[in-house]
Amino acid sequence: QVGTDKLDLQNVVDVAYSKYKDLQDGANADYIPILATVPSDLFGVVIATKDGQLFTAGDIDYKFSIQSVSKPFTAALVMQQMGPQALLDKIGVEPTGLPFNSKMALELYEQRSANPLVNAGAIAAVSLIQAESESDRWAQIKENLENFAGTELPLLDEVYQSEYETAWSNRAIANLLYNYNRLYSDPEQALRVYTQQCSLGVNTKDLAIMGATLANAGTNPLTGKLVLNSRHVPELLALMATAGFYDESGAWMYSAGLPAKTGVGGGIVAIVPGQFAIAAFSPRVNQAGNSIKAMKAIRFIAGELGVGLYGAN
Ligand code: GLU
Repeated sequence: QVGTDKLDLQNVVDVAYSKYKDLQDGANADYIPILATVPSDLFGVVIATKDGQLFTAGDIDYKFSIQSVSKPFTAALVMQQMGPQALLDKIGVEPTGLPFNSKMALELYEQRSANPLVNAGAIAAVSLIQAESESDRWAQIKENLENFAGTELPLLDEVYQSEYETAWSNRAIANLLYNYNRLYSDPEQALRVYTQQCSLGVNTKDLAIMGATLANAGTNPLTGKLVLNSRHVPELLALMATAGFYDESGAWMYSAGLPAKTGVGGGIVAIVPGQFAIAAFSPRVNQAGNSIKAMKAIRFIAGELGVGLYGAN
């Protein structure tokens, strides 16, 4: 059993990296065509503590698209603007047990958008941001994500173009939500801003700091800026625990015991509340859209450090 002093944190990151770096399982997501072109062997692992110390291994500076790892952070902005009840009333907080882009979930869950960590709820969250115009909506969402990361995040324009040109499934979701009065802006505007949100570039260190901001009760450890009121952090982490891995959320909690969020770009961030965040990135994903190497690395680190919320397993 490893403790959590500095040497141990660097050691467990190094061991996780070398243990999984040669794993070839899974494949890049390709329903967004450009994601298939990201070098598949990239692999980065980072722990960021709540006071901003970083422990790193591998390709930690490579900028990839944040994709769905953005979703809890925009849900946080909705909480900041409207309070946590708005998520319950206007989106929902139930895990779907269905894939991230499910339309069936919209019908099954009494025409709610399910929760803000699947596509439907995330598009609804974008539409809920109190904005005067499309550019204002995008500016607020981008600034909020940058506040969590403590750094500027570039829009990866090629990813945006590739995703928006092929966004028929998400367009269907936005229109269906609008039909059910579960979308709160023009649907095509919500779709465009959501797609921009997913196309923001982050590296593994950025993701780790975003998670460390949640581990640090909503204050960014690098900038000292309060990004999310501390009383909303437990609610957000509860959402991540129940829905962060889509239809693998149960298996993830069963084996790792930590709130986390994945994205089809290959990034994952997990939070040990009050202590640190573990982020990892590798492009090859499984059927559920979760990065295989990143998932294994984080689960290994959580297990070695014995930090699962429900006890060490
Ligand atoms: N932008 C992606 C989509 O909407 C996000 C999905 C994901 O990362 O799981 O399909």
